[in-house]
Amino acid sequence: MDKVDYFTFPVRFLKGIGPAREKLFQKLGIDNLKDLFYYFPFRYEDRRNVSLISSLKPGETAVVKALVKSIRVSRGFYRVKHRVEAVLEDESGAVLSVWFNQPYIANYIKPGRRFIIFGKLRFYNRHLAFVCPEFEPLDSGQEFNVKRIVPVYNLTSGLTQKAVRRVIFNSLKKYVRFVIEPIPYTIREEEQIPNIAESLVNIHFPKDMDWLKNARQRFIFEDFFISQVLVYLRKLKFRTAKKTKISLDYKYLEGLEKSLSFNLTGAQKKVLDIILKDLSSPYRMHRLLQGDVGCGKTVVAGLAALAVVKAGYQAAFLVPTEILALQHFDNFRKMFGIKSVNVSLLTASLSKKEKSKVYLGLKQGEIDLVIGTHALLNEKLAFKRLGFVVIDEEHRFGVEQRMALYRRDLNPDVLVMTATPIPRSLALSIYGDMDISVIDEYPQDRAFPDSFLKPQSRREEVYEFLEKEISHGRQAYVICPLIEQGAGGYGVSVEDMLLNLRRRFKKFRIDTLHSKLPAEGKNLVINKFKEGKIDILVCTSVVEVGVDIPNATCMIVENPEKFGLSQLHQLRGRIMRSNLKPYFFMIYEDNVSPDILARLKVLTESTNGFEIAEQDLRLRGPGDIFGIYQHGYLGASIVSPLEDLKTLKQARRFAFEVVKKDPYLNLPQHKGLKEYINRIMDKCILWREN
Ligand code: ADP
Ligand code: MG
Repeated sequence: MDKVDYFTFPVRFLKGIGPAREKLFQKLGIDNLKDLFYYFPFRYEDRRNVSLISSLKPGETAVVKALVKSIRVSRGFYRVKHRVEAVLEDESGAVLSVWFNQPYIANYIKPGRRFIIFGKLRFYNRHLAFVCPEFEPLDSGQEFNVKRIVPVYNLTSGLTQKAVRRVIFNSLKKYVRFVIEPIPYTIREEEQIPNIAESLVNIHFPKDMDWLKNARQRFIFEDFFISQVLVYLRKLKFRTAKKTKISLDYKYLEGLEKSLSFNLTGAQKKVLDIILKDLSSPYRMHRLLQGDVGCGKTVVAGLAALAVVKAGYQAAFLVPTEILALQHFDNFRKMFGIKSVNVSLLTASLSKKEKSKVYLGLKQGEIDLVIGTHALLNEKLAFKRLGFVVIDEEHRFGVEQRMALYRRDLNPDVLVMTATPIPRSLALSIYGDMDISVIDEYPQDRAFPDSFLKPQSRREEVYEFLEKEISHGRQAYVICPLIEQGAGGYGVSVEDMLLNLRRRFKKFRIDTLHSKLPAEGKNLVINKFKEGKIDILVCTSVVEVGVDIPNATCMIVENPEKFGLSQLHQLRGRIMRSNLKPYFFMIYEDNVSPDILARLKVLTESTNGFEIAEQDLRLRGPGDIFGIYQHGYLGASIVSPLEDLKTLKQARRFAFEVVKKDPYLNLPQHKGLKEYINRIMDKCILWREN
């Protein structure tokens, strides 16, 4: 057989998959053979032990080898239209088996044939019976549903376990020899890792529990190893000379700093110095700036951007939401009172005409500083002399998107900012391709919030408090998990809450903000809130990132159990924007479990983002944190970095050695690795020379 390219081989070419099935597989995210192979079971059933029929008990799940003694097909009405009953026999006794509404069963289950039967036993018409068991012809050589450790997959309606198993079983048999082995042989030897083909077979159809364990371990290692190789390659790619020569005008910078309405904190100054040093170095900057919400990252990045502009280059600010883009746009103009700097906005809601104006301005170099959303990532966008890129709230963007910006011809310096603190242990593996700086200090005047966790029954207390604060001129956010009811999921909706609050607070001005509003509507609301014309803003977590309204000092979160701790911490950051004392309330449903309450309590005890992230990691595992950062090009859904931290470290070490020794992966032992990476990274830019 000709070699098959499993990365592109569409599943519809597989036996047993027609157009309808193909759609179902696509629903599961499976387009090609690679997806299929890496569609790992989420659990397994051990169906190896065959029982004697005489020993079967109601309620148990069992496997038997049996002869079909007799069969009866009957038709009914109502729900059960069709019923197949068979009497099964082995040397110890007989048992009944029934199937409902599966008329084709009678084509297989015929008297005189032998089967392996697997299923649950119940009483049926007062007889012990298998109810809708799975079955397989005995000694067919194709036993993948019974008599082994059987995989159980996540399904979508219309697909059965049996169908998925069959497709995967047959595809492995036929095509697994064509897969690429990305882990070099010597590493596999040293770590005693089974090869890729064996591992794939055993993660789906394990020979035994040991094989399963080894296969799993392999894919965890593989996942980490590949991602770490990518991290190191990116790092290497970045350690390149830049084409820009940024010479800094310190006098100008000093002037800017003085014109601010506040003094920079020590931490801000320190980080700004580091960034300025990076800017004037002949090598590209690729720096991550971590800092808790409200610690003042924007002003630091803003100063750096203006320094770059002053040096004659363009700067770009990439932000995840339109609200944030507008806010930065306004703030920059206010904060620095800049007249000589031409700042433009580029977002999806600009008209075609406005957009092409910005495109032209950037290309011709008339625009010095552009602030934009994903629209900035458009490949057609060209800069005249881009020198500096800032990516704000980077976890909202994928690595791929980050890399897309780096493709710009000029090799700009890149500063990445995030307020989502991640525990040290994970930080390196996620951000290992960057230098890391931290702002670990809040502006001096900053007041820290008192945080409370309240049951529904004490809602009124919270409202009384709110009433007092608003009467004193403060403003409040009420965060709801849903926009409207009926969209799926439980929880309080913005719409319902608006009505409730209007009833409860007749005198206050209340409005809403959520993602379904058009961009103009959003801006209108944000501006009214900023100008103090709204007392209570009912919204979804759209305010989570960046929104900066210092007079808003109260926040109520409805259904806090629906948010991750780090996300709640981010939300709370919205009310930590000044020297006014903030108050944070979480109102939980009465039936919330003690576990969840314990988790939420962490927030009432700490305002330190790193601490909260560590706790979140400890209590809930790294799913949330890694969920954000795994950008989806790796298949292994089985990784849980907390338990697998040791593997992660090993993989890092090996990855580092490989890249250090062979940065272009040209050695013969790295052939598979290189091929694999080329395939998963769509246009791989990692090898391209500058
Ligand atoms: P984040 O780090 O979360 O992005 P921002 O940059 O939005 O935080 O800053 C939060 C608020 O603090 C803004 O209103 C900003 O103007 C203000 N701010 C920043 N630095 C200082 C400082 N050194 N002293 C006082 N206020 C500051
Ligand atoms: Mg920010």
